[in-house]
Amino acid sequence: MQNLHSEVVTHMSPDRERLEKELAETLAEIEQLNKKLEDKADYGIGKGSPTIYEWEFNLALRQSLEAKAKSIRAALRKMQEGSYGICEVCGQKIDDERLAVLPHTTLCIKCAQTKR
Ligand SMILES: [Zn+2]
Repeated sequence: MQNLHSEVVTHMSPDRERLEKELAETLAEIEQLNKKLEDKADYGIGKGSPTIYEWEFNLALRQSLEAKAKSIRAALRKMQEGSYGICEVCGQKIDDERLAVLPHTTLCIKCAQTKR
């Protein structure tokens, strides 16, 4: 009788929790960067000002974070569809070890290497 509710919990996989946490963190980072980027006027950007490099760096960083958030969302969608962990290119199962390091990857190690 005391195990009545334990089934419900097992439906939530640790991978999914991890991805959702990572997505939340990534979105928080983007928000912080957005604030920094909005401050552009206060930097007093002029010729030879080093702050422009920082601003451009933050902009590039935001772009890569946005790409990351996008791929995490795609991975979460795949989990719902049941196609998570399947390589987009060759359709093979992606190594568990690779997914542990890169939980939102959509390519197996082979395809990721040939793509480069
Ligand atoms: Zn592949």
